[in-house]
Amino acid sequence: MSLEKIDHNLCTGCGICINSCPMDVIRMDEGKMKAIIKYPEDCMLCEFCSLDCPEHAITVSPEKYSPVIASWG
Ligand code: SF4
Ligand code: SF4
Repeated sequence: MSLEKIDHNLCTGCGICINSCPMDVIRMDEGKMKAIIKYPEDCMLCEFCSLDCPEHAITVSPEKYSPVIASWG
């Protein structure tokens, strides 16, 4: 589970998400001028990037927000 997707049809390459991310997960593809998910394993699912993206291009995996409820006995 991690930052799931950056929609390159929506991303304008503004770079806001890169500055928003406290974990350095997102980098800019300098060739395409689109944000890319570089280190997904470092994502802590804070959602700063998706909240700050003006184009709503970022999807954070929703599973994290459906915690497994287990009961024993
Ligand atoms: S904030 Fe959104 S539009 Fe801007 S670079 Fe990141 S993904 Fe692209
Ligand atoms: S959810 Fe948080 S840690 Fe993960 S990529 Fe976005 S800003 Fe970075």
